[in-house]
Amino acid sequence: LFDLKELCINIIETSFSNNKDNRNVEFYFEGKKFQVFADKNLIEYAIFNLLNNAFKYSQDCGNVIMKLINTESEIQIEIIDFGIGIPEKDQPKLFNTFFRASNTNGIVGTGLGLYIVKTFVERNSGIIKLESQLGKGTKVIVVLPKI
Ligand code: ATP
Ligand code: MG
Repeated sequence: LFDLKELCINIIETSFSNNKDNRNVEFYFEGKKFQVFADKNLIEYAIFNLLNNAFKYSQDCGNVIMKLINTESEIQIEIIDFGIGIPEKDQPKLFNTFFRASNTNGIVGTGLGLYIVKTFVERNSGIIKLESQLGKGTKVIVVLPKI
């Protein structure tokens, strides 16, 4: 049992504040405090990786928004960026091992992050969805059931 807002704020402050890599990407958080019953380490890893993707694939001076939505039956975590986006033809393959979209030139990665994140979310009985528009941005939604 842990406070999800506290975890998210901690990740943002420790890993993404202070003008990380001199790129001026700004992180915004929206959501109230609440407790969730889940594997804290796996959720922390998943959130870190999704925020790191939003950071990596944003332009300098871009914004990243993280939202927590707490309903009666589920918890929704949204990570939204306004970066390079993902070509539609690549979107079905994003959760495969070692897959990288065709527009990642010059941005370093192994193509394993989302595969691992999906595994960790599913280990907590959650689901992960991704919506993206090339050149406009990306939104990743993680839904965790309340137990
Ligand atoms: P790493 O294993 O270091 O995370 P990676 O970031 O390339 O490497 P994934 O996190 O698995 O790998 O993401 C897979 C691919 O999905 C990326 O290579 C990139 O093409 C695309 N992608 C993921 N998140 C975003 C995003 N927020 N904006 C644009 N493209 C993204
Ligand atoms: Mg990644």
